Amino acid sequence: MSKTPTDLSVIRLRHPLKARRLQVRNIVTVTPKMLSVTFYSADLADFVSASFDDHIKLFFPADGQPIMPEASADGLRFPDGVERPVARDYTPRRYRQNENELDIDFLLHGDGPASNWVSQAQAGDVLIAAGPRGSFIIPDTYDWQMMIGDETALPAITRRLEEAPEGKHIYVIALVHDASERQIVKTHANVHIQWVYRHASDAVKLHTDPLLTAVTEIKWPSGQGYIWGAGESAQMRELQRHLSEDRGVDTSRMRISNYWKQHA
Ligand SMILES: Cc1cc2nc3c(=O)[nH]c(=O)nc-3n(C[C@H](O)[C@H](O)[C@H](O)COP(=O)(O)OP(=O)(O)OC[C@H]3O[C@@H](n4cnc5c(N)ncnc54)[C@H](O)[C@@H]3O)c2cc1C
Repeated sequence: MSKTPTDLSVIRLRHPLKARRLQVRNIVTVTPKMLSVTFYSADLADFVSASFDDHIKLFFPADGQPIMPEASADGLRFPDGVERPVARDYTPRRYRQNENELDIDFLLHGDGPASNWVSQAQAGDVLIAAGPRGSFIIPDTYDWQMMIGDETALPAITRRLEEAPEGKHIYVIALVHDASERQIVKTHANVHIQWVYRHASDAVKLHTDPLLTAVTEIKWPSGQGYIWGAGESAQMRELQRHLSEDRGVDTSRMRISNYWKQHA
């Protein structure tokens, strides 16, 4: 039976804005470049994250001292005379309500307030987090879902694979540094995953983009599908162009997000 447009409509939810004080409870090395940080907080009792696509803002004050903002009608307000700390977006990877625990997976990409913070983080350290402000929910009525992205998209992708219903067809194309960055995920879904490597010799020799090459070569599944992608902004722009212009994918059937920007 063919599906009506309503069956396939995405759902957008809004959540009340709240800042929370999170304390590092544990840090686990997932892969050489990915650390999973478990945060604990009584503030997490009413935390809501309804979609793998959600994000929260983490604040990194220059002097390392966490400053609690107030939620106001205009957003978060920091105390007068206090410089607004640098904020970065991260995916709520796993939330355990009974334990008031939240896991966030951080990529160690090099130099930046977030990457530097996590490379030195220890149990007991405190961070302020705000959000998620909203959730974008892709219904499970699609015949299949495709997820395309780099390391920064992996927390969302692996969360989706863990949460997906039994037998759901999910195609993943994931760009990572090398084979040591592959992750193993427990899932009940029917998953087809293709890992591609940033430094694969062919891509380096030919100056091609290994992620986009993999996408252009994929055999397209039949039926109604939804494509989710996230990663570096120029790469995501080209991915969106390819999907809409070369493949004819309607914008209502994809969500492609810029998760970071390569600086020269
Ligand atoms: C909605 C959303 C969800 C996200 N979820 C996650 C997540 O769960 N886990 C995660 O690790 N990241 C995630 N990101 C990406 C993360 O926010 C960015 O990588 C961010 O720039 C890291 O901040 P930073 O302070 O470490 O570096 P920045 O100060 O932002 O950048 C410093 C330098 O590092 C470079 N850089 C930044 N990110 C990368 C990268 N990934 N690879 C290589 N170079 C980089 C920049 O080009 C710049 O030259 C998410 C982003 C968004 C928008």
